[in-house]
Parts: sequence; structure tokens; C-alpha cells
Amino acid sequence: MSSDTHRVLLTGANGFIGNHILAELLSAGFSVRAVVRSQAKADTILQTHSNAGRKLDFCLVADITAHNAFSRAFESKEPFDTVIHTASPFLYRDVTSNEDLLDPAVRGTMSILYGARDHNTVKRVIILSSIAAVMDYSEAAPKDGRMWTAKDWNPVTRDEAIRAANYSTVYRASKTFSEKCAWEFMEEQKPHFDLVSLNPPMVYGPLLHSIRDISQLNESNLRIWNLFLDSSKDLEMPPNGVYWYVDVRTQDLALAHIRAVTKPEIGNRRIIIAAGSVTSQEIADILRSAITTLAESTPIGKPGEDTFPTNGYSVDTDTARNVLGLAFRNKEETFLQLARQLLEIAKRT
Ligand code: NDP
Repeated sequence: MSSDTHRVLLTGANGFIGNHILAELLSAGFSVRAVVRSQAKADTILQTHSNAGRKLDFCLVADITAHNAFSRAFESKEPFDTVIHTASPFLYRDVTSNEDLLDPAVRGTMSILYGARDHNTVKRVIILSSIAAVMDYSEAAPKDGRMWTAKDWNPVTRDEAIRAANYSTVYRASKTFSEKCAWEFMEEQKPHFDLVSLNPPMVYGPLLHSIRDISQLNESNLRIWNLFLDSSKDLEMPPNGVYWYVDVRTQDLALAHIRAVTKPEIGNRRIIIAAGSVTSQEIADILRSAITTLAESTPIGKPGEDTFPTNGYSVDTDTARNVLGLAFRNKEETFLQLARQLLEIAKRT
């Protein structure tokens, strides 16, 4: 397969992760149509990827929940070989109801699949799912130091998602339901293309695109800003949360997408894309030891203490290494480079 003639349809191209995937696709020589909601968002992409030239064009889809939302996106003189679907809500400040998270996730995924079904040049649809669709976050979840693998599914129900009082439960449900629908579609419709789902845990790392100020940060990096960079040395160490992570960049999650495009043998697989674990104490130690200006604003906790839970869970990191050939960068690079960028953004605004 030659990347020179291979054409990719990419949704969510203006997002934190979408921008990195787009950069990786363009640098590998693919021709890409980016799907975004508005011309203003397309213009921002052009600023970030100013060398793209004729390899990049756009389609505006204002509402991904609309019937046949992506049908126009597929209309192209040069047809598409691969679809990468990343557009899905993950900004809690932008939502006012649980449906705001659930509907675009599920309907957007179904629309992209139906769109691909009507275009027989498409050989693969890649869905950016999440570890949220894999792990069981409920009280009843097995707490036995287990390893979550691609065989596991978050058991959250539609009813729980509708009634949930916090957006993180609903977000996890949105990723679960949208990915489940995709696999059911494959089972029922038996389309001419195959499906690959990539399931990362927390995704961190520097932004490729510009933001006006910290208030425009994406959800996962905002967590690092709020809990570790804009906090206080005396505050209690924040809970570990989802303590498995991957860097967003080339070499890591962005490269996983390129490998998913170029490896025909991985069709119809779910692949967890995780670099490793990181505790809150580790993040704080990395930041405090290298960035002296954080002395007052990053929690101290108990430096050097191993706070990985004694019966903590793990996730499968081997499949991404063995099947996709990924060799992840180290956590110091991820958290220091992200922190330095965010501190710069905060300083200039
Ligand atoms: P961003 O918020 O930066 O990007 C989300 C993208 O989805 C944007 O392009 C956004 O467009 C689009 N989008 C969101 N809601 C809608 C909607 N209702 N209609 C149309 N487009 C929409 O987040 P990330 O880059 O972090 O997330 C990208 C994907 O990665 C998501 O599917 C997310 O679930 C998944 N993911 C993220 C992880 C993380 O830690 N960041 C972890 C695991 C998975 P617009 O700018 O117009 O809103």
C-alpha cells in the first residue's frame, strides 16, 4: 500500500488528539479530508498544518447527530480507503445534559459506519474508542489486581448512564455504547470493510494546536493543569484516578493510528494503546524535581513514596507493543513537556 495514493477521512481533526493524528498522516504522505464543524475550525487547522498543501481538504459537518450526517463527507473525486473517527464529546464544560455526551458519541459512530457502507472503496474504519469501554468502574468491579484486556467490556447500562449524576460515568458510557454499536453493526451488516478500535486510557501530552488560554484546554490535560500545576504544595495529593496513560504524539497514540491504517492483518481487533501506569505522586515528583517554579503550586505529598494501590489493576500494554510495534516514550518526557507548554500558555495570557 502506498501512502501517496491512499486517502483518509478523519473526523474530529481539530481536537487535541485529532490534530496529532492529522500531523502524523500528512507527514506519512497520506491525503486527508478533515471533517470539522465549522469553517473557523477548518481555518485553525490550516494554521497548524500550514505545509499540508493539496494533501488536505475539508468537509464541514455541523451536526454529527443528524440523519446521514457524513454522507457529503464521503463524496470525493478521489475516493477514501480508510476512515478514522475520533469526533466524540469529551469536554464536560460544553455539556448540559447526559444526552449531550451520549447522543453524538453513538449517532456519530453509526453515521460514519453507514456512510462507509455506501462507499465500496473504504477498506477499514478505525474508531478512537477508550479504555472507558473496557474497564468496569462500578463498586462491584473486581479489585484483585486484575489486568484489563481487549476481551473486557464496561458493563454500564443505558439506564445507569441516563440517571448518572456525574459526567465521567456518562462519558465512559458514551464510549462503551458507541463502540458496542460499531461491533454490532459489523456483525449485522457484514460490510465490505473491517473495523479496528483503538482503546487508550488517559491521553496526555503537548498540544499541537494553539489555544487562547487555559480555559480552552481539552479535558485530560485540564486535569493535569488543575490538579498539579495550578494547585498548592500543601494540598492533599489528588486521587490517582485512571492511573494508566499514553502520550498523544508521534511514537505513541498518533503513531498507533498510522499503524492501524497500514497493517491489514489487524482487521477486526480492539487494541488497548497504553504506555504504562503513573500515580499522582509520580506526576508531582516529576514536575517538582524538574520545574523549580512549581515549588508552591504542585502538591508535595510524600515524595518518592510508591502509591500504586496494593491490589491495583493493570491494562494490557503488550498488544500495542507487539502487534503495532509501538515503543512508548517515557513519562518524564510526557509530563514535563506538557507542563512547560501549559505554564507558557498561562504566562502569556
Ligand atoms: P477534544 O475535545 O480535544 O476533541 C474532541 C473532538 O470531537 C473535536 O474535534 C470536537 O469538535 C469533536 N466533537 C466533540 N463533540 C462533538 C459533537 N457533538 N459534534 C461534532 N464533533 C464533536 O478531545 P480529545 O482530543 O481528547 O478526544 C478525541 C477522542 O479521543 C474522543 O473520541 C475521546 O473520547 C477519545 N479519547 C480521549 C482520551 C483523552 O484522555 N483525551 C482518552 C481516550 C479516548 P469541536 O471542537 O467542534 O467540539
